[in-house]
Amino acid sequence: MKAIYVSGVHSGPDPSAGVGVARSLRQAFPHATLVGVDYSAGSSGIHYEGFDSIWLQRPWNELELDLYKVQIASELEQGSLWISCLDLEAQWLSSAFPDHPGMLVPPASAFEGIAKPGIRASRVLPLEVPAYAVADRPLWDLYAFCRRHGWPVWCKGPYHEAILTWNWQTTAAALEHLKDKWAVRNPALQEHIKGSEESIVFCAYQGKVLGCVYMQKRVQTAEGKTWAGVIRALDDNLREGLDRAVEATNWTGGGELELIRDDQGNRYIMDWNPRFPAYIYGATLAGHNLPAMLAEAAGAGRPLASPCYSGEFARIVMEVPVRSQYPLPPPSPQDTVGKGFSAKHPSGMVLLARQLSGRKKRRDGLEGPAPRLPASVLEDLSGIDREELATPARVFLPRTAHEAFSRVKESVSAVSVPRVRMRVAYSVKTNPHPEMMRLALEAGFLAEAITGSEVQHALACGFSPQRIVLNGPAQGWPAAAGAISPLFAVFADSLERLAAFRGSKNGARYLGVRLRPATAASRFGANLAEFVDFHHLLAKLRDMGSEGLGIHFHIQSDVIGVRPWEEAFDAFLNWGRTLQELSGLPVRCVDVGGGWFPDDFTEELAPQLQDLVARSKRVLPDLESFLLEPGKALAQPCWALITRVLEVRRPFAEDGHVDAVVDGAISDLPLAQAYPHRLYFLRDGTITALASGGDRVLGRNCMEFDQLA
Ligand SMILES: *Cc1c(COP(=O)(O)O)cnc(C)c1O
Repeated sequence: MKAIYVSGVHSGPDPSAGVGVARSLRQAFPHATLVGVDYSAGSSGIHYEGFDSIWLQRPWNELELDLYKVQIASELEQGSLWISCLDLEAQWLSSAFPDHPGMLVPPASAFEGIAKPGIRASRVLPLEVPAYAVADRPLWDLYAFCRRHGWPVWCKGPYHEAILTWNWQTTAAALEHLKDKWAVRNPALQEHIKGSEESIVFCAYQGKVLGCVYMQKRVQTAEGKTWAGVIRALDDNLREGLDRAVEATNWTGGGELELIRDDQGNRYIMDWNPRFPAYIYGATLAGHNLPAMLAEAAGAGRPLASPCYSGEFARIVMEVPVRSQYPLPPPSPQDTVGKGFSAKHPSGMVLLARQLSGRKKRRDGLEGPAPRLPASVLEDLSGIDREELATPARVFLPRTAHEAFSRVKESVSAVSVPRVRMRVAYSVKTNPHPEMMRLALEAGFLAEAITGSEVQHALACGFSPQRIVLNGPAQGWPAAAGAISPLFAVFADSLERLAAFRGSKNGARYLGVRLRPATAASRFGANLAEFVDFHHLLAKLRDMGSEGLGIHFHIQSDVIGVRPWEEAFDAFLNWGRTLQELSGLPVRCVDVGGGWFPDDFTEELAPQLQDLVARSKRVLPDLESFLLEPGKALAQPCWALITRVLEVRRPFAEDGHVDAVVDGAISDLPLAQAYPHRLYFLRDGTITALASGGDRVLGRNCMEFDQLA
């Protein structure tokens, strides 16, 4: 053997494995020649004294890959080995040197098997793959994925980088960023799994596992990188699965499977890296010198024994002398805030991704097909006389509206639980348009008002006081509108409001209180998380002078996610039960608010309404009335904003992207950025749903963020 090349030697807070591999090799082969390879003088590991020499290359975008390949080939021909610690470099080397016994990287086909987010190669292991959605689908569907799995979600780059996001706006921005940055391959969304981070680390040669360990992270950096951990043996069933996966992929080289173990003990795979992890020397310290086993299998000779110093390892930070051939860069006169080396990894994987894809950075946006067009929307839109329309115009979609109201009505009337009446109260504030009020009235719904003024509006639209629910923090606004009674139900938003119920002539059928969920940030309702507040709440309830109680909560499932909503619902019922037991007032009315995205209402909530009501009755046996307060589930599909294209600009002629300036603005569509809106293009009597991509629809206002889509 001539030398062992170890590429990827950066040693910062987000280190590559090169230094750890070199330390492991040095321990086993004291006289071997170790050559460190990297692609930036900013990779601090080039100064590590354990390397006999450094082969510093130009950055990937300046490197002649064909020439580089010839140089590497000549080293390999002279009997050198190469251990790559850079994912994309390993992938390139694998296709450049198929079957070369000294090139210690997995075969090209194995990279398909470990591609994120599906990680097919892991299927033979007892591991689960978290739910995911590749970002090549309509934005509409991607948003549905986020709502259903609940926030936060992970936006994962195809090769590197994962960004945790908490709402659609940041999710869309993160996906776009990942798409632009990593070129070609699409990023993906992945559900967030709560649990502890663990890894399987192994090395293999031509389909046979040479050694493996299990690592549990104990301390990690803000970026989630391992700082200290425990090394253990692999469980038998994991070991068996690993053997099979390694054989199936004909793996050569190091590898790491990044896992999360949840509190039930289920293991989920997040990533399968085609290289050793940066903490590999921690395994060596535990007596498992995987890099040495790999080198031995490839013909490096017999390694010295690697004793076990400890099954636990920790990192420290050390200063080393800079090699005189690679002096530090001069101080930068520019502002360096946010430009520290950890902000941009010196290994240049982004440059290599672009190089391999043959593409320059450009404005792609998130390209995805158009969302499915509901037939009723098409019909409604084709019935509009567009020539005569003064734009921007908000137009009512009668067939779609009819369908939306019928759907909700049907799903509610299908519910049957003895001695409980389930009712819908349409949220007036969501859209108080007379058309919507009429539909709600005709459907037999109640009206849910948040102010005295909305109560008056509901009365004017034909609702009797007995068909009105009053909610919200400003029930007395304006003062003159407050005294209508008896309403169907009134829920206090605060202890102060609750106190005002005492002895009031506000003879609503149900008087109650809004409860603040402990698991979601909210400014509304009685705070159950503080003992003193809870104590006061009980006192006020006992004082209320009513012989039954209503309880209410409203958190938007499209903001916190459908599953978290369900958890909040169960907690809410249990709080109701506690209030009932401690106050002596039976809970007669349960009101679970609104906040459902239309599709989630039909696909997620409706199928389980029967169960939710039955569960409520079991927990609260005196329950008589179960209220739902949909707003947007009813109103959102019923309206479209029509704008005219005023000008088409071609700022990126090369890419063919266009910017269309329209006469609508975010003042017409205030939630334009909050969730993906379906976009239709109407021309010459044809209606097309627009796919997503790099084009923009710009509003008429002189504000930078006035972008409709
Ligand atoms: C706004 C509101 C609703 C309706 O919310 P949507 O998100 O439109 O479904 C229901 N209940 C209360 C108390 C509200 O404030």
